[in-house]
Amino acid sequence: MRLLLAEDDALLGDGICVTLSEAGYATDWVTDGESAESALQTGEYEALILDLGLPRKSGTEVLRHLRSRGSDIPVLILTARDTVADRVSGLDSGADDYLVKPFDMDELGARLRALLRRSGGRSNPIIEHERITVDPASHIVTLEGRRVDISPREFAVLRLLLENRGKVLSRARLEEGLYSWGDEVESNAVEVYIHHLRKKLGAELIRTIRGVGYTIDKSGDARLN
Ligand code: CA
Repeated sequence: MRLLLAEDDALLGDGICVTLSEAGYATDWVTDGESAESALQTGEYEALILDLGLPRKSGTEVLRHLRSRGSDIPVLILTARDTVADRVSGLDSGADDYLVKPFDMDELGARLRALLRRSGGRSNPIIEHERITVDPASHIVTLEGRRVDISPREFAVLRLLLENRGKVLSRARLEEGLYSWGDEVESNAVEVYIHHLRKKLGAELIRTIRGVGYTIDKSGDARLN
């Protein structure tokens, strides 16, 4: 899961990045509105965490442009205390949720999970797929009710495939979900994680679409081809 964070407060931005990385997200961090816009135009992000008070271009402007381009990426806005008007205009400009500073990092994590769940069209926090359950909050994965040990990056690959069931994700798309700017991308890493996931969760779970990428079929889809 790759996220974009737009926050000009260095201390807060750093804290958010650490928290998100511990939770298994790959986060790109920009510190002004124009950089946020250019990142959004070039990167594929699962969600945007957007401070409204940004230099060069306000968060509200970034949000309006984003929605006017037709993007439906989930957006969580960060606002200062006592700025009800900002929150209202942020929500009216297309934000999905907001947090008032200062906030607890646990709450940030919970709100993000809820946003990602809603954008995936789910209301149940646990992702269920045939014999497997995946809990994005605790990172616990079970197979037929038994807990399976999964590394954070294996978890990220599994979650991305499950959140996009029925779609084929290219290796580059999966890599984007695993690494943020500045991370060194290990070659063949995705293949290795897929190999481990198949060993742990069953060889039939993830299908390779030769020359295109990987997919998890929607439950009950016939696999005749
Ligand atoms: Ca700010």
